Amino acid sequence: MKESFFVDENGYYGEFGGAYVPEILYKCVHDLQEAYLTIIESREFQEEYYQLLTDYVGRPSPLYYASRMSEKYGCRLYLKREDLNHTGAHKINNTVGQILLAKKMGKTRIIAETGAGQHGVATATVCALMGMECEVFMGATDVERQHINVERMKMLGAKVHPVRTGNMTLSDACSEAIRDWCCHPADTFYIVGSTMGPHPYPDLVARMQSVISKELKVQLTEKTGRDYPDYLIACIGGGSNAAGTIYHYVDDERVQIILAEAGGHGIDTDYTAATIHCGTPGILHGAKMLVMQNDDGQIKEAFTISAGLDYPGVGPMHCNMAIKKRSTVFAINDDEAIRAGYELTRMEGIIPAIESAHAIAALKKMTFKHDDIVVLTVSGRGDKDIETYLKFNN
Ligand SMILES: *Cc1c(COP(=O)(O)O)cnc(C)c1O
Repeated sequence: MKESFFVDENGYYGEFGGAYVPEILYKCVHDLQEAYLTIIESREFQEEYYQLLTDYVGRPSPLYYASRMSEKYGCRLYLKREDLNHTGAHKINNTVGQILLAKKMGKTRIIAETGAGQHGVATATVCALMGMECEVFMGATDVERQHINVERMKMLGAKVHPVRTGNMTLSDACSEAIRDWCCHPADTFYIVGSTMGPHPYPDLVARMQSVISKELKVQLTEKTGRDYPDYLIACIGGGSNAAGTIYHYVDDERVQIILAEAGGHGIDTDYTAATIHCGTPGILHGAKMLVMQNDDGQIKEAFTISAGLDYPGVGPMHCNMAIKKRSTVFAINDDEAIRAGYELTRMEGIIPAIESAHAIAALKKMTFKHDDIVVLTVSGRGDKDIETYLKFNN
């Protein structure tokens, strides 16, 4: 039998994944494992979920033929416009789904972790929508760096907890959210922001984002006459926009999968977040994955200009696909991402999130045939990053 790249019945992707949680969380993680598929596959859930994706998020997101960039790179380049979603990125696809799941499981209190604040805002947004209590854990360093998103969360009614342990960034915020969850396992639902965490979260988040590739099948058929591209390109932090982009093509060998992780100053320096290039197997935040760590297993701080990619691990599905060579992963350095962000802005009039600019930069590392159909996911809009773009260009 051909190997599957989806999760197996034990919660693993090859050697990666699983659910490594403290005893006190065992029951609530187990309950979630038992319940999630039945609930999200039910007709009632699907109807509510797609209604919200359509009327609230604004889906389907357009598939846009980028003609000037196509000419430049010698291919037929289509951009999947997740930047046009409500709240400006793909993250809302996942939070809308998870809050419906939380409600159906009878939970009353929502917690989330956030780095740049994008997932925090997407979570606070759906909590306001549903009238649910929301607490967000965010590294104290990020609270300062991402002040506007903190104000957005507060305006939406969420409580933001600055986390002052470790490097005071995303990884520490995840640890603190798990700690809070341990104290309130019965009434609290933890809305995880990417394809990471203990099983079933990586699979749950991938399914919530899989609407991206579901739409691609229809949109590509309309625009090109066939339902698959030659290449799919996405940036990868924890791996959720990438998982959604590839979900319905994972087993289709006609489709090449290209991912862009954050190289920071470069993979041969200490200032990088390129986990697939530089990580080794380890356990972080409830799952086995590739982790940047020293010889003693101490987690190293990730470094990149892009707050959304600033994480020392990467989701288990992507670890497995990368080491089995189903995907090709490029490390894109800060300066390459910035240049690519300016290029898309000037050539197509689209200012991408710096995370998404990493995917654009991958185009330069490839050679295409003229009739190749290339789909690149623009995971978010760049409004939040204007200062970073300006600083780098001076
Ligand atoms: C959070 C974020 C990412 C990275 O997260 P993934 O789970 O890897 O998708 C990428 N782009 C944007 C715009 C983000 O907000």
